[in-house]
Amino acid sequence: MIKPGLKIGIVLTLILVLPSLFFSAYEISNLSKNEAVIDSIYTGQLESVLFSLNQYSDDVLSGWANRLERETEDINTLLLKNYSIDAVGIRDDDFKLFTKEKIPEDSLANLISTLELDFAANLNKIELLQRYVKSGYRKIEALPNSLAGKSLFAFALQKDSLSAKTVLLLVDTDKFISENMGPKIQSVAQERFYISVFKNETEEVYANQIQSDEDKNITQKKDIWLFPAYQLGIQMRGNTIEDLVRERTRTNIVLLVVMDLILLLAAWFVYKNIRKQIRLNQMKTEFISNVSHEIRTPLALINMYSETLEMGRIPTEEKKMEYYKVINTEANRLSRMVNKILNFSRIERGKREYHFTNTNLNAEIENILANYQDHFDQNGFEIELQLADQVPDIKLDKEAVAEAIINLIDNGMKYSADIKKIELITYLDADFVRVDVKDYGIGIEKKDQPMVFDKFYRVTTGNLAHKAKGSGIGLSIVKHIMEAHHGKVELTSEFGKGSCFSLLFPVK
Ligand code: ADP
Repeated sequence: MIKPGLKIGIVLTLILVLPSLFFSAYEISNLSKNEAVIDSIYTGQLESVLFSLNQYSDDVLSGWANRLERETEDINTLLLKNYSIDAVGIRDDDFKLFTKEKIPEDSLANLISTLELDFAANLNKIELLQRYVKSGYRKIEALPNSLAGKSLFAFALQKDSLSAKTVLLLVDTDKFISENMGPKIQSVAQERFYISVFKNETEEVYANQIQSDEDKNITQKKDIWLFPAYQLGIQMRGNTIEDLVRERTRTNIVLLVVMDLILLLAAWFVYKNIRKQIRLNQMKTEFISNVSHEIRTPLALINMYSETLEMGRIPTEEKKMEYYKVINTEANRLSRMVNKILNFSRIERGKREYHFTNTNLNAEIENILANYQDHFDQNGFEIELQLADQVPDIKLDKEAVAEAIINLIDNGMKYSADIKKIELITYLDADFVRVDVKDYGIGIEKKDQPMVFDKFYRVTTGNLAHKAKGSGIGLSIVKHIMEAHHGKVELTSEFGKGSCFSLLFPVK
């Protein structure tokens, strides 16, 4: 049969600890999945930032095209207002080129011929743009060109229902990035992102923020639609996504582990408490059986001896006296036992009352010994008394103190084998008057010493301890009595050699 304590332990583990451990294991195994989800959310967010920047550069170009189309601005004003536009070319029947500043004739002729060549090389695309615009859709196209550091854009403008002209925009790429995209990058990035622009994958040409190479951890890059050789890069500032996810994971794991530990601790606590209750119950059951046994023995003796006397079969007066004595002794034992139980029950109900009077402990002890001398003699015990010369009077409940001392002497007698001697010593020790009750009996093992004052606790290992009858409440009563006197009871004992119980009464 499974022990009740073990059963409760198993049940607690099953209903409390196991589900939480399973949950934790499940959560921990899912953390990496969650990490991936968070990672993709962050990545998506960064991507949309880059998308919006690309979109914005497109819008800038469309804005210029709109202004030229609606003629809200003439070409020269557009050139003046926009630092990054180097030149605007109109290809109609002829080719006219407008530049920002006057440039020498031969340079202008050079530039025109270069642009003409680029134009010719992209004729297919330009025809497509013209076809688009005729059907109502104006598209701006980046054309491959032969001018270093420049970008060439083309779009068509409707002239009349049949024909269209082509506009070429020659833009300085780096200027466009710093002048037109820069402010937008700054406003989008704010304090949250580090955004930079790369040329040819590695050369950083613009950034919203100065950042050291060690801090740089640009995980996401996107091509800039308008400038194929350029890329936009983005990174979270402060914590990288990995940092954030790792931190979150770490916090989650720590929380789960702490929660599990608390649960385990709580389960352990509940288990210990229940086990204690079960043990207390077992001890109570044993107590009842022990007490019944202890009461039955003297009763049986009294019964037997009184019946024998009643039958008048005892021949001599001397023998009769012997029988009377046995009856008397057993009746006393019985009454001590019953008193002990009644006192214990009063203590348990919190109903035990004490009446203190100024008492001389030496005198009181002599009194107790005189009353119990017969009891010691009958058991063949010698009580050796060593009283201090003088002890101050202290406030005592005489009856309770007698009960405590008799309990200790009784125990001394009960748990002694060969050496039938008990020493009673009184002396002054600092602020206490001490009474030592010392025996040369079986002693108490170290592991049991802290427990012997617990109610119902009995040591049952060892031959004598096993055989000795007892209820397990004597020392708990002694402890209660001493606490009521604001004193204490101490134990020193050596297993196999004997024990010394000391009652300490405070002088004040
Ligand atoms: P009991 O009725 O069993 O003697 P107590 O409360 O008086 O109950 O004592 C508790 C336990 O302490 C005893 O069962 C015994 O094992 C141990 N004990 C008490 N006094 C002594 C002693 N003088 N020597 C050895 N063991 C003792």
